[in-house]
Amino acid sequence: MAKNNFMLKLICGSAAFIVLLFAVSPVVSIPSYISYASTNLPAEINSTVNSQQLESEYTLLEDVPQPLLLTNKPVYDKYTLQERKNLNLPLGLPDFTYYYGEKTVYLTFDDGPDPENTPAILKILKDNNIKATFFVVGTQVEKTPHLIKLIFDEGHAIGNHTYNHIYRDLYKSPSSYMSQLAQTDEKIKNIIGVRPRISRAPGGSSGSFTKAYWDGLKYNGYIEVGWNISSGDASSAKAPQIVQNISRQLENKFLWSHAIVLMHDGRGHNETVTALPAIIKLFKDHNFEFRVINLETPPAW
Ligand SMILES: [Zn+2]
Repeated sequence: MAKNNFMLKLICGSAAFIVLLFAVSPVVSIPSYISYASTNLPAEINSTVNSQQLESEYTLLEDVPQPLLLTNKPVYDKYTLQERKNLNLPLGLPDFTYYYGEKTVYLTFDDGPDPENTPAILKILKDNNIKATFFVVGTQVEKTPHLIKLIFDEGHAIGNHTYNHIYRDLYKSPSSYMSQLAQTDEKIKNIIGVRPRISRAPGGSSGSFTKAYWDGLKYNGYIEVGWNISSGDASSAKAPQIVQNISRQLENKFLWSHAIVLMHDGRGHNETVTALPAIIKLFKDHNFEFRVINLETPPAW
């Protein structure tokens, strides 16, 4: 009898455990290409869900391509490129429509995350209630995983800026370039459970990309993101000069239908941090809408 009781308890206990497992497991993924993070977080993120993460929605690319809805949310992929290949899933991008607002600005920061500048920039963005885009370098991702998580949690977009940013490695061949993108994607996915589908070539694509690079990006489903306003913060410019550089290019409305502003949050770019509040004010004073870069962002040129 004692043994039967024990068996009964064991069976009931197991059943309760299984029911509990279902109750706390992530929402079962529906076979659509797109879903929203708040209802379909990757397992590793869902296990640590908090209110801050629930606020930061993004569009998630899944299995079957469907036209993309206009969202002003970052776009991430549930799968790495290799996983897509292994699972025989489409590598290309779903259909989408470019977003053309009357006055749109995309603030972008390259070469981070940096332990000093990136948190300072995130604080300024939060104080101003705006979202931006960070093109991150793989070697920095390895050093500062907590900052990748913070950028993601706060609803900004993350783009791939290659693994080591060393031109002679990157531009040796299209396959070297693609393998650096894949390498950085893996690092990012290990931290936040998803990977970007937007990328930016170090030094810019012009002069570095041949047709084979563009073909490789298209085949593997990456959007290359340029810029049409340069802050000039890569030199030794001081904050007032950086603001003035942007302001001057903003007057040349014929140069852009939407402003994609190149800045840097990498090491040594403290002047960019100092300039940022004035840069944001400049665009706010001109009634710009701040957006994150996703598949709907029109090309810079
Ligand atoms: Zn760069």
